[in-house]
Amino acid sequence: MERKEFKAESKRLLDLMINSIYTHREIFLRELISNSSDAIDKIYYKALTDDNITFNKDDYYVNIDVDKDNRLIKISDTGIGMNKEELENNLGVIAKSGSLQFKKDNEIKDGHDIIGQFGVGFYSAFLVADNVTVISKAFESDTAYRWESKGVEGYTIEECSKDSVGTEITLKIKESTEDEDFDKYLEEYTIRNIIKKYSDFIRYPIKMDVTTKKPKEGTEGEFEDVVQEETINSMVPIWRKNKNELKDEDYENFYAEKHYGFDKPIKHVHLSVDGMIRYNAILYIPEKTPYDFYTKEYQQGLELYSSGVMIMEKCSDLLPDYFGFVKGVVDSEDLSLNISREILQHDRQLKSIAKNIKNKIKNELKNLLKNERENYEKFYESFGRHLKYGVYSDFGANKEVLQDLLMFYSSKEKKLVTLDEYVSRMPEDQKYIYYAAGESIDRIDKLPQTDLIKDKGYEILYFTDDVDEFAIRVLMNYKEKEFKSVSSNDLGIEADDSENPVDENENKDLFTFMKESLSDKVKAVKASKRLKKHPVCLSNEGDVSIEMEKILNAMPE
Ligand code: ADP
Ligand code: MG
Repeated sequence: MERKEFKAESKRLLDLMINSIYTHREIFLRELISNSSDAIDKIYYKALTDDNITFNKDDYYVNIDVDKDNRLIKISDTGIGMNKEELENNLGVIAKSGSLQFKKDNEIKDGHDIIGQFGVGFYSAFLVADNVTVISKAFESDTAYRWESKGVEGYTIEECSKDSVGTEITLKIKESTEDEDFDKYLEEYTIRNIIKKYSDFIRYPIKMDVTTKKPKEGTEGEFEDVVQEETINSMVPIWRKNKNELKDEDYENFYAEKHYGFDKPIKHVHLSVDGMIRYNAILYIPEKTPYDFYTKEYQQGLELYSSGVMIMEKCSDLLPDYFGFVKGVVDSEDLSLNISREILQHDRQLKSIAKNIKNKIKNELKNLLKNERENYEKFYESFGRHLKYGVYSDFGANKEVLQDLLMFYSSKEKKLVTLDEYVSRMPEDQKYIYYAAGESIDRIDKLPQTDLIKDKGYEILYFTDDVDEFAIRVLMNYKEKEFKSVSSNDLGIEADDSENPVDENENKDLFTFMKESLSDKVKAVKASKRLKKHPVCLSNEGDVSIEMEKILNAMPE
């Protein structure tokens, strides 16, 4: 028997790994099952290219055995196995991934199922075990080997016997301590739950003996334990399943599993479209903005599958930019498998799916706004700004899609209102949709320019985002009502001149003096009927409002 130590870096890394990378000990099972699935996939790929190998699906599976009395969990597979060299290289060197190498050697590009790539997952076994034994017999090899390790100290390797090709990994589960319960990993239902949670879509059966209580024959009301082998994973991806069989929780689990976000999505949509182009999709509207959402680093897109095989991790063409926050998967049988990325971009089917998805998202958001106002406001707080950018970009090409989804703070309601709500309660004599731009709601509240409009009983929309006024300029009007800044020269409000006419000559000297003192800072100083409580206010002539001018001036050249 040979005894070898892990390389020095490996020791440190292993320590680090075991204690810090993973926060949930239970993922050890996900990692080991993924490795088994990869090992079976490798045989499958070999069979694809070699006529001498037949791949009979029934012969390929993962088996989980729990031996509670001896504190053992065994994960066995009928995969490709490892020879001595592979055991040393793949399990003896941390951060070495035999699976990544396999993908390279076999020129398997994106669109594969092999999961491994980082070469660390295996060591997560030590999160729950103080001893790990691997017995493996490689494909087309006569000898089997046993690899054993207690963690950082190193490993031993020796020849052993094993009948069939494949790998068996046995974990000796740690003893529970006062702070930490390890016994639970020896419970059938814990193991079962972990498999369900992380490995439900593994394409090969994950089998396990399950004990159930059944009525004992020939007795009345007596039960007995019956042990039966069960396949725990459903193997079928969630989007291929029937909506009626799925609970909110299933969708939320999938969202978390896929790392779409750390939040709980506000809404999910499950689509099974059976038209000209067939596709299944699950789309999510997140609740919170990802930390990098408003940066260049953020990559939008949906996962694209073709017949259950992943083609692209982030297919950005499936979403318009203004809905870039949407997460999810699309799976279509009508995309051919061998399409390259470039061809996909110009794929007619893809475009048609994208259009369909755009409309679905729009309708979903409209429904949310109509039926779940509170949730919509949560969503809007995270992504409202993004929608407004959407209105502004592409020269307003998307305004029809987006204008009904916008909200602004209202002087009257003291909360966010939609444009539709604003317009529908406009008094008959009100010509325009008034808005005031400023730094904060408080500041805008105090603007002298708002006095006259509020006095008339008209509602004012408060613009506190830089993009607001730009977006509204692109819209120009809503339901034929033009937008009007409160600092505009002409507010369209008829002042009652007969009672209190402005005498142009009164204070003429004062105005001249003011204009001269302010020189080119203002264009003119005039008497105004707009003011109620304030002595003076600023107003602008022409299209660019004072607030917009500030933003434009602050922009880098
Ligand atoms: P990764 O899966 O990211 O490559 P792991 O640490 O999980 O990293 O595994 C390291 C390597 O060990 C794998 O790439 C694979 O070559 C090999 N390996 C692990 N488990 C098995 C197994 N059950 N059958 C065959 N090879 C395995
Ligand atoms: Mg792995």
